[in-house]
Amino acid sequence: MVKETKFYDLLEVPPNASEADLKKAYRKKALRLHPDKGGDPEVFKEVTHAYQVLSDPEKRSIYDARGEAGLSEQGGMGGMDPQDLFSQLFGGGFFGGGSGRSQGPRKTKDLVHRVSVSLEDLYKGKTTKLSLTRNIICVKCKGKGGKEGAVRQCGVCGGRGIKITMRQMGPMIQQIQSGCDECSGTGEVINQKDRCGTCKGKKVLSDKKLLEVHIDKGMKGGETIQFRGESDQSPTAEPGDVIIVIEEKPHERFTRKDNDLIIEVDIDLLTALAGGQFAIKHLDERALLVKIEPGEVVKHGDVKVIHGQGMPSRRHHEPGDMFVKLNVKFPEHMDPGVIHLLEQALPPRQPLEKFPKNTVIEEVHLADVDHHTRHNMSDDAMDEDHEEPRVQCANQ
Ligand SMILES: [Zn+2]
Ligand SMILES: [Zn+2]
Repeated sequence: MVKETKFYDLLEVPPNASEADLKKAYRKKALRLHPDKGGDPEVFKEVTHAYQVLSDPEKRSIYDARGEAGLSEQGGMGGMDPQDLFSQLFGGGFFGGGSGRSQGPRKTKDLVHRVSVSLEDLYKGKTTKLSLTRNIICVKCKGKGGKEGAVRQCGVCGGRGIKITMRQMGPMIQQIQSGCDECSGTGEVINQKDRCGTCKGKKVLSDKKLLEVHIDKGMKGGETIQFRGESDQSPTAEPGDVIIVIEEKPHERFTRKDNDLIIEVDIDLLTALAGGQFAIKHLDERALLVKIEPGEVVKHGDVKVIHGQGMPSRRHHEPGDMFVKLNVKFPEHMDPGVIHLLEQALPPRQPLEKFPKNTVIEEVHLADVDHHTRHNMSDDAMDEDHEEPRVQCANQ
């Protein structure tokens, strides 16, 4: 008869469970509840704590007799990290490198391949073929390297594939680890005559495979497409994955910001002031015709939005927006003969600011800023720049 069953309930075992049962139950629960697997860290901690207590015969008897309260009388539980206990129990953790992937059988390296995709293709989606070279198990010897029984453990390295040489370096002895020459680091030797003729004893063959890569509408740079088990095959490990990493090529006109597109468009001054139209070639086979109504004045640097013309979202292909920054292109020169037309059309010139009577009005020349002057300005040397002749103008 036990005082309370909370810890047993957490592990879903009866109070008379054996040590092996407890371990099995904890392992099953912990694998499911592990935070790396998306489990609640608090629940994982509780379950781990329960197992910590019940797996210790002394603590278990205290718990059985007096419950949780009895344990705290024993002076704390020791703050062991549940992750540490988990790793300690199950040999370095089931979750390789925090990737959240179950370690399971050893896997060959994932093949990572970067694919540079134009914004047009990310907008429309595209299926592209990718030729891939990877190792496959030799079809002739089925990955044995030779006839049945022809493969022996390398006698030089004892099958480890490495050799260790000691070298005296002054007072220190240096250990150098290198591949075993006898077996080329494989740990096995095959008699020349028994060697598989197809793979030459290597057990694997180089093979080309065409992968169909479906680039979905709205994919972004950095997203990946995974082909499970398409990496190198090996007689001693599961094949890893082929991982395609999408890289977004920079576009000459558009900038992408999440699902929005940003473009700068030059419009002429007349269109900006008096209306007109311009077109934006889209990422598909369309061009957007934009009208500026007469009477609506566009200022240089204005940003407008065209709703629903951005990139499609990944999930439901809902489009983002297109932001258009308008750059107004001014003419280089004006014919003085037509200025009176402008004077009719535009608001009058701003009158000159009024100054107190004793102010000396000095007329100056507005010159283009050349490199030299700009340099001086940045050097805060404007005060020294008195070389230009001053023109005193009659006070009007
Ligand atoms: Zn060897
Ligand atoms: Zn072979």
